[in-house]
This record gives sequence, structure tokens and C-alpha cells, in this order.
Amino acid sequence: MPVRQTCADAALHYAGNDIDRAALQRKDPEWLAAQLAHPETLLMPVWRNRNLIAGMPCGAPAAATLLRTSGDEVTAVAAEPVFLGLRKATAIYAIDLSVCEEPLAERLAGDHQFVDLRLAGPLMSLSEAALCAYARGMVYWHRHHGFCSNCGRATRPEQGGQMRQCTACKRTSFPRTDPAVIMLVICDNGDGPARCLLGRDPRWPSGAYSTLAGFVEPGESLEEAVTREVFEESGVRVHDVTYLGSQPWPFPSSIMLGFRAQAHSMALQLDPDEVEDAQWFTAAQIRQFGEWGDRNAALKVPRRDSIARFLIDTWVAEQERL
Ligand SMILES: [Zn+2]
Repeated sequence: MPVRQTCADAALHYAGNDIDRAALQRKDPEWLAAQLAHPETLLMPVWRNRNLIAGMPCGAPAAATLLRTSGDEVTAVAAEPVFLGLRKATAIYAIDLSVCEEPLAERLAGDHQFVDLRLAGPLMSLSEAALCAYARGMVYWHRHHGFCSNCGRATRPEQGGQMRQCTACKRTSFPRTDPAVIMLVICDNGDGPARCLLGRDPRWPSGAYSTLAGFVEPGESLEEAVTREVFEESGVRVHDVTYLGSQPWPFPSSIMLGFRAQAHSMALQLDPDEVEDAQWFTAAQIRQFGEWGDRNAALKVPRRDSIARFLIDTWVAEQERL
């Protein structure tokens, strides 16, 4: 049986964006106008949460861009371009083509395809996947913040799309990302090998297990959110909550904050609304899991682009070194 490749040494997907966001220059309307008018400026189209991807279905997928001058048809249907930043002095803008019906979107895509980033991302370079994630997240935010949360009137983009302002009461809003904690719970009480707690959502493929996770609520620290979420979902009390890393997660608008926590005991009391099943697994058992899409595997690890996979594989690799 081939050994499943781990992600323990890999960087986290959708992080590692090497674009210069030009945070100072983008406040200057004249500078932004010059960037948008430049013939070498690139546009990154997003259509209904799908990024325009080159190299699919065969080959190595990469972010596809259109030249700013690629045609009036694109600019006619696109929402106002959102300035993402500079890559080697070339400005890159995201554009939302979601108003197009599918045939027009397909025609505008040309030789490329609009693809769900969760499908293409794991196959892309980290910087390309990160840039697509950034574009997807920004376009999503604009599409869902067209009206003021204070007075209900229309808002409009400012500063190249890095904020929106109400046309009536002038209230401003900024692109948001919702913090979510995700944690690998460990039990190492000296009674046999250490085990980690994995659960499954009933919407996942049969046999797929992953780490517990949940959104941070107002008025709690990240560590408190970890403790609360683990107890709510599994009935397990934890201590020694340790931060391990984070991952942009624009599906649709989160940042995942990865932790490890130690369990006081292994007794489980599951919340059936949140967790269909949860079990304690040893590293050796997880080594036998198949990939997420492996229909022949009875048990499956999370997808390779997720921080859940990183948390699990890192722990498995540590256990094997002991
Ligand atoms: Zn308003």
C-alpha cells in the first residue's frame, strides 16, 4: 500500500501571497487611476465565487489574468475593479463578473475556466493560490456589502475597493475576515499511545474525519473560544491551548487560527447538531487513512489545502519521531 503523503512540512495553502498591497499609494486616487489606465495592468476575474484558472483540467493550474485592455465587453459587465496590489510593478485588480449568465462567462473566459478554488488550489503554487484566495475574498466582500448596515442606503467602493462608504450617512466599512479557531485535541495520559480527537460533519464524504473548529464569539479570547468549542462539540475539557499557525480561508470569509489543546479526559458527549461522530485515533491509525477523495478508503483525512490537515499531519509526524 502506498504511504499517504503528509503535509507536515508544507506551508499553509492560501497564505504566502507575495503581492505588494501598496497600502500607502492606494489611498491616492490619482495614483490608482493611473494604475487602472496602464495598458499592462492585469485583471483577475471572479465569477460567482469561482476564479479564472489556466491549465485546467490538464496541466498545472495557475491564476489566469486578462490585460486591462483586453476588451470593452469585459469592462462593460464587470463590477468596479478592486485593486489588489503590485507584482513586480504591475498592478493587479480583481473584477467580479457574477452578473454574467453562464454562456457569456464561458466566452469571456476564453481558453481558461472558472473553477472553484478548493479544487484548483491544492494543485497550484502557494503564491498563485494565495493571490486567487485574496481576489475571491475581496470580490465576495464587495458583493455582500452593497448596502449600508446603518441606514440601508447604497454604499460605493473607495480607495480602489479597499473600503466602502455609504452614499448617504458616509459610514465606512472595511473588508472583513471572520476569525475561526480550529484545534487538534490530544490525550496523552500515559495509558497507551497518545491519541487525537477527530470528528465528522454529516455533510462530508463517508468516512472523512477532521479537527474540531468554530467561530470566535464577541467577548472571548482565542484560547477561550478553543476551550468552549471543544466542550460544546465533544464534551471534552481541555487545557494548555497552544497556537500553531493561521490560514486565510476565503470560503467565504474567514481566517483559520490553528491550535493544539490537551484533553483532561477521553470521555465524549457529542453535540449531534454539530458532530455526527468523533473518535480518538492514534498516529498509527491515522497513517492508514486515505485521502479525502479516495472512495476506497474507509477513513479519510481532511483535504490537503486545509490547516486541519496540517495540524493532523504535524502531530502524526511528531509521534512517529518519538
Ligand atoms: Zn448609511
